[in-house]
Amino acid sequence: MSTTPRSVTVLGCTGSIGASTLDLLRRNRASYQVEALTAHRNVAELAALAREFGARMAVIADPDLYAPLNEALAGSGIIAGAGPAALIEAADRPAEWVMASIVGAAGLEPTLAAIKRGAIIGLANKECLVCAGNLVMAAVARHGATLLPVDSEHSAIFQVFDFSQIDKVERITLTASGGPFRTWAREDMAAVTPEQAVAHPNWSMGAKISVDSATMFNKGLELVEAHHLFGLPEDRIDILVHPQSVIHSTVSYVDGSVLAQLGSPDMRTPIAFALGWPQRMAAPSPRLDLAQLGSLTFEAPDPGRFPALRLVRRALQSGGAAPTILNAANEIAVASFLDRRIGFLEIAAVVEDTLEAVVAPAPTSVDDVLEADAMARRHAHEACARRVV
Ligand code: NAD
Ligand code: MG
Repeated sequence: MSTTPRSVTVLGCTGSIGASTLDLLRRNRASYQVEALTAHRNVAELAALAREFGARMAVIADPDLYAPLNEALAGSGIIAGAGPAALIEAADRPAEWVMASIVGAAGLEPTLAAIKRGAIIGLANKECLVCAGNLVMAAVARHGATLLPVDSEHSAIFQVFDFSQIDKVERITLTASGGPFRTWAREDMAAVTPEQAVAHPNWSMGAKISVDSATMFNKGLELVEAHHLFGLPEDRIDILVHPQSVIHSTVSYVDGSVLAQLGSPDMRTPIAFALGWPQRMAAPSPRLDLAQLGSLTFEAPDPGRFPALRLVRRALQSGGAAPTILNAANEIAVASFLDRRIGFLEIAAVVEDTLEAVVAPAPTSVDDVLEADAMARRHAHEACARRVV
């Protein structure tokens, strides 16, 4: 590591990725200076973390929570902020490295603010690339930002992808655990509860991505993410179910070689890859013991039981605002499922219904994205309400 501490900002510091990022920072105190931390509504945790890491600014996304945050930070010298503009301000502060780990399209504008000042971004917030992939990638190029994927599959591909010979890459394959219902019959999935859906077999994650893993929309969102990050068309990105989550993804080259990255399912490994980049840094993730594992297994995804992949491929082929609409509808449907207002199988039904009903022009600006996103959310809300028994 270099001798001057790297200044870092963590957008979404109270979440699962945020906690893993802070765990690595805590273990490497001397190498990092925390510039800004943000959270959605948990004032007490945000204030405690801001004090612990000596952050310069702490921002709570809920604008109504400014007073309690300001009070919790009294005497610390840490600047308090609240609401969407303050989130952007946090991302805009001069941290060299920014972890984008807000969940959902809510992370788009703060992430773009960090991109626009040419920062190094650790990108966990895949929904940014799903709802505004072309705009985000254009902004990265225009402003000379560095986008380092944190999603384990994309980190794996990034680590074995030959960017100097992209024309020699035949295909990439995203591995998928298959989620908690991998072996379930579709009719049994109708009655699953939020508790069952968030109980992921291999990874401990936030509620939204856990439900996405259970529906396999997560793998669909990752397909869109990979399309933008690596510039490959949808028909050269495969999905392979691999229940052990040890091979994190593969890249196939024209000579028949297939390169993979392996590791135990612990997000601190891909986060460390991005946090230390361009050098490797130590991470405390459990070490792989392949002899003990004995075997790794693979199977094709089942489109009949998991319609998400078909819907995502269709949205990516349609292009325009379709991925934005799909992402927004999925966010609403997942929230409704977690609130027990719709059933598990209705998540995909609401997404499909919204994709068919909402028409929006291809976005050429962030405002266009936000407009398509809002239209899709309104429709998806109505679709969820119609499904309530
Ligand atoms: P999480 O729900 O645990 O944390 C989300 C964070 O974002 C929290 O700090 C929360 O306070 C903040 N947040 C939530 N809503 C917000 C809003 N409207 N405005 C501002 N801040 C808000 O989620 P997570 O599991 O940490 O996932 C974060 C992102 O990383 C997601 O996009 C997810 O797909 C991606 N990701 C997560 C994992 C994982 O293992 N958890 C793996 C790969 C990718
Ligand atoms: Mg992933």
